[in-house]
Amino acid sequence: VRDGVVIIGAGHAGVQAADSLRERGYAGPVTVVAGESHPPYSRPPVSKQLLDHTVDPAPTPLRAPGFYRERGIELVRTRAERIDRDARLLHLADGRVVRYDHVVLATGARARTLPVPGADLPNVLTLRTVDDALALRPHLVAGARVVVVGGGFVGLEVASAARRQGAEVTLLERGDRLLRRAVSAATADRIVEHHRGTGVRLGFGEEVAGLVERGGRVVAVRTATGDVLPADVVVVGIGGTPEDRLARTARLPTRDGVVVDQWLTTGDPRISAIGDCAVVREPLTGTVTRLESVQNASDQARYVADLLSGATSRPYRALPWFWSDQGDLRLQMVLRTPGHDREVAVGRSVLLFDGGLLTGVESLNDPTTHMAARRLLEHAAPTDTELASADYDVRVLAKRLRRPVQVA
Ligand code: NAP
Repeated sequence: VRDGVVIIGAGHAGVQAADSLRERGYAGPVTVVAGESHPPYSRPPVSKQLLDHTVDPAPTPLRAPGFYRERGIELVRTRAERIDRDARLLHLADGRVVRYDHVVLATGARARTLPVPGADLPNVLTLRTVDDALALRPHLVAGARVVVVGGGFVGLEVASAARRQGAEVTLLERGDRLLRRAVSAATADRIVEHHRGTGVRLGFGEEVAGLVERGGRVVAVRTATGDVLPADVVVVGIGGTPEDRLARTARLPTRDGVVVDQWLTTGDPRISAIGDCAVVREPLTGTVTRLESVQNASDQARYVADLLSGATSRPYRALPWFWSDQGDLRLQMVLRTPGHDREVAVGRSVLLFDGGLLTGVESLNDPTTHMAARRLLEHAAPTDTELASADYDVRVLAKRLRRPVQVA
């Protein structure tokens, strides 16, 4: 039994929080509760390199092997069971009890499963962890019939990886276009073109009505429009469900995620939540935002470490950015605020405006525009008129700034 900061979850958010606490000089005990059996690993390769047969199947560690010992960070390989807020105790699945000064919930999210019978059959797979990737990898072989459900980031990255291994890929999206909530129509159209060009069959307005089973395995997918698609494997990428059980059982506010204020603090001043599991509530408007990205996990982790070590007292603020590799297509985007009323396509990028101000930039294989957009939006939101004067080239406006962008 001991005090200190206990971080629950050893993904990008949890490990960064521990690292940053030590970097800021926090001298108390730091414990990271890691639910998975692998040493903490980097998440992006799970839906990219790890699905490629030519790549070593070992996960990419988030930190060097000696890191945790050298920094005095205790990694506990078990699951957190329950938080007793009155006694300030965390109960672990292995029976241990840890006393805390502060808890950081960095519990992430889990993959949503298909709401039809057969969703638990052995060749119906979701993708979130290294073990998921290692289970999927042997299925992605030349000639295999792969049906991907969901036209989000998991679906598109898996479709690319499967095509590269020579599999036949059909992707079913229930909406009328890809990435409806993530990117503009103009960018989505270009992504569609890319995938069709590589031979992925894309079906829109298609929901899975049922799975056809034979001998304990799925052999076909039945869609709501009546199609029957033969399948050797079905990959489900229909979003994530935040892991907020610990917060709920500790009677902390949740709303499809752990609700936090602008200081990333839950209803209990001794408990913060960061990364995929955290829902940040705007005090004035009451709007809530939950982001699932490496940038969000890392920035929120650094912020909480700053807050706990007294390096800041300001509310959390960060510029969201994101990337996705789909074969030889790299999508990068930066989004200051969600929503836009005007799209301007410039070369391989699309500029998004809202009320005459630049709110975001989406780039396809255009890293210099992406980096310039981040520099620009980190600083301020330029007006449509300012950009028009630069022929909508964000690089021109960014050059006028002196402040360098922070690279995570
Ligand atoms: P996602 O990006 O939220 O996309 C899910 C897609 O599936 C949406 O287009 C959604 O459409 C659709 N969908 C939902 N229910 C469906 C159903 N029953 N049938 C057919 N389609 C359905 O989620 P994801 O692709 O599963 O990824 C999970 C998380 O991992 C996300 O947060 C993602 O950002 C992250 N991830 C990130 C990267 C990266 O950074 N490059 C790579 C992989 C994964 P609606 O919009 O209509 O719901």
